[in-house]
Amino acid sequence: MTQNNLPENNLPFEEKLDFLFKLITEAKNCAALTGAGVSTLSGIRDFRGKNGLYNDMDAQKIFDIDYFGRDPSFYYSHSKDFIYNLKEKEASVVHLVLGKLEKASFLKGVITQNIDLLHQKGGSSRVIEIHGSPSVHYCRRCSKLSRVEDLAASKPAGDLGSPDLMAFEQAAEIVGQGKLPKCGKCGAVLKPAITFFGENLPVRALRDAELLAREADLMLVLGTSLTVYPAAAVPEITLRSGGRIVIVNNMPTPLDRAAALTFDDLETVFSGIGRRLPEKRRAGRG
Ligand SMILES: [Zn+2]
Repeated sequence: MTQNNLPENNLPFEEKLDFLFKLITEAKNCAALTGAGVSTLSGIRDFRGKNGLYNDMDAQKIFDIDYFGRDPSFYYSHSKDFIYNLKEKEASVVHLVLGKLEKASFLKGVITQNIDLLHQKGGSSRVIEIHGSPSVHYCRRCSKLSRVEDLAASKPAGDLGSPDLMAFEQAAEIVGQGKLPKCGKCGAVLKPAITFFGENLPVRALRDAELLAREADLMLVLGTSLTVYPAAAVPEITLRSGGRIVIVNNMPTPLDRAAALTFDDLETVFSGIGRRLPEKRRAGRG
């Protein structure tokens, strides 16, 4: 692999952060890829980390499509307190600063592996969810998948205009009461548009992610160990297209040598970027 570390990678922390801020604000198309490490700052457990959900709650079974077909109540009862309790969760400094960077026109969008809707809560409006999204619940019998993907990409709220579709907020209310969201047409239990094990990844989100990665001259790779595809392919696409990547992760990743800069602590890096972010928007850009 090409060694792309810039000399600035060896600067003392604050100077290195100044340089990162300069890269972000001078990039034409800066984008971010986020993984579980960003969510753990909001108190959400990493699915695969050492305190991961897989070890103590059988997440394989919670998100298994065949099991969901047999007993959808298992998914809802086990995800109630970590997916449907969004109101109790706070966006972390990473979510908030990414939202501010987008508003100031320094960030084109976020590609995320996470399914917790915290980027939206943190103020990001362009969020590409490559493992699907609980923003829409749909009927596996009555709903058209392309329609579900379009809705999930637009992050709707309220009435989705069809009895076989339900937005997150309404589903969360029903699940919070210990009930199951059901199809208004056929009565089947609705499924979230999260990609379960045994299902295909969302075609539209993957296509959007690929386009964003190709356009990016700077990709911030945040809180992901880059061991799971398709996320791992995102920075590779940016590198192949001639862009730079910056990695912030608490463990080494396979692309560290290919990164312009590497950092290990999300919280200090994003607190620092937040402090440097001027109130003023980027001049001459929408
Ligand atoms: Zn139905």
